Amino acid sequence: MNILKNITPGDTASPAREDSRGPIVLMYHGTAVGKPTSQYSIEAHLFKQHVAYLADNGWQTRLIKDLACPELLTPKTVIITFDDGYADNFEGALLPLVDHNMQATWFITTDCIGKYAHWMGSNMPETRMLDKQQLREMADQGMEIGSHTCSHPDLGRLPYAEQVDQVRASKELLESLLDSSVPSFAYPYGRYNADSVKALRKAGYQFACSVRSGWSLKGSDLLAIRRVTVFSGDSTSILARKLAFADNDVSWGKLFRYYLKRAGSRLGYTGQTF
Ligand SMILES: [Zn+2]
Repeated sequence: MNILKNITPGDTASPAREDSRGPIVLMYHGTAVGKPTSQYSIEAHLFKQHVAYLADNGWQTRLIKDLACPELLTPKTVIITFDDGYADNFEGALLPLVDHNMQATWFITTDCIGKYAHWMGSNMPETRMLDKQQLREMADQGMEIGSHTCSHPDLGRLPYAEQVDQVRASKELLESLLDSSVPSFAYPYGRYNADSVKALRKAGYQFACSVRSGWSLKGSDLLAIRRVTVFSGDSTSILARKLAFADNDVSWGKLFRYYLKRAGSRLGYTGQTF
């Protein structure tokens, strides 16, 4: 049986009426040359395959800030994002994207520009961060550069005034570096509270990405945009399923359980039969 054909997208983690769905926003981190040590970084050769898969299957890429322009967002639009700003993205991600005439949005932790991701522990090639010149070049190539705070804190644990400092100072630094406005943000660890949203509004952000999975939703709060996480080792077949179901877990076991549940409810079974 063809499970994919028998499950309606949206049945899994994030049901959303089809007409309310915006583009899927994918979240990547590092693009390592060898096997990454973090489950959130992907091998550069796999990322290259992802980009080729998107191009071969008619997907177009847009930027987070394009969410304000619905006319640009076709049903086959995907938004690629990178958190933290790892230096290995410069060759491992920028080059294949430019080769395919695609775009992506990067969220940069400004205290670490040209240094290391201090919150990741010891300094290794994998935690080396993009430098100022690289960020300028990426912006020149049509990539969007957004903020990921100054020092990558869990915003929800900071007092309001410190949250304002984190989001405002990082925005100002990037705007002066790139000589353009920076309307987009991603919450470190995906964590935030009501004060974080207030701080972002005060600093003048229009868009903020969470890590809650699902489709971005039309007409929904643009300061809580959902994203689908791409993990180390995700093949193009897993990517295809993530694009179909907007879920972080698209294992066949999970999809099969949903298929059984739907089939059961059609036959009149209720409860936890499956
Ligand atoms: Zn991060």
